[in-house]
Amino acid sequence: MTKIFGIIAHPVEHSLSPAMHNAAFKALNIDAVFEKFDVLPEELAAFMSERTDIEGLAISLPHKEEVGQYLDEITDEAAQIGAVNTMYKKNGRIVGANTDAPGFLKALQEVTSIVDKRVVVMGAGGAARAVIAALKPHVNSITIINRTPTHGVDLAKEFGVRYGGNFADLTTETPDIIVNATSIGLEGKDEPNLVPQDFFEPDMTIFDIVYRAQGQTKLLADAEAAGCTTVDGKKMLLYQGMIQFELWTGQEAPQKIMKEAL
Ligand code: NDP
Repeated sequence: MTKIFGIIAHPVEHSLSPAMHNAAFKALNIDAVFEKFDVLPEELAAFMSERTDIEGLAISLPHKEEVGQYLDEITDEAAQIGAVNTMYKKNGRIVGANTDAPGFLKALQEVTSIVDKRVVVMGAGGAARAVIAALKPHVNSITIINRTPTHGVDLAKEFGVRYGGNFADLTTETPDIIVNATSIGLEGKDEPNLVPQDFFEPDMTIFDIVYRAQGQTKLLADAEAAGCTTVDGKKMLLYQGMIQFELWTGQEAPQKIMKEAL
């Protein structure tokens, strides 16, 4: 019987995960389909209790923090981050994991060493939590820059890092790596200059975890023009998706096929 996988989110139509996972299932001759499920917050409890036929789920906004209560167990990493982005079944139990953190780390380490680096993380939402949890054991320092001070301060306290203020305060920092983990840069949204053009240095690495179906975010275009090393959010999407695929199928994810599908 065809196995059902999917992504739950709201809205869900922009998701690139179906293309990536369906291509992988096809390439490996796995009898499975990956669907989009548009689930509102008030529908989550019913969805999770009724759709026991689903083998595995990618979980996106706004459900990453809420979905844990409907699962049998959560990995230590997902518990520390406080967000689940993957549901899979193991020995009859429904498990929640977070593949954003290792996916992010792999994409970043491909372009730069992170040991002893000073990192600025812009944003204090769910994605920033995964980014900070991933970086914390390796880097010299992490400074959070966020629009709403209370969110930044609370997150900094929780992870034992520093809150550096809002975007106007960025220029007092001396980062080696800047990560955009805000939602600025999504297609269709106004894109302010998150980083002033004269702040970029060619030896900086700029990682925008926000990605677009087509083209680049303004942040990455500006950083590239300044000669910085850049990483696109699609790399993180690919690597976190490959980890999901391996949790769901127990098979090695076909990287080339998944990348092409993206
Ligand atoms: P959240 O809604 O949890 O957090 C959003 C963050 O963006 C908050 O820090 C918020 O600041 C900030 N923000 C939103 N709008 C503005 C604005 N106009 N000006 C300044 N700051 C703003 O979202 P997530 O953390 O879950 O996701 C963030 C982004 O990361 C999304 O675009 C998502 O697509 C992307 N992502 C990419 C992944 C990948 O694989 N590449 C994986 C996971 C996420 P405030 O606290 O002030 O509200």
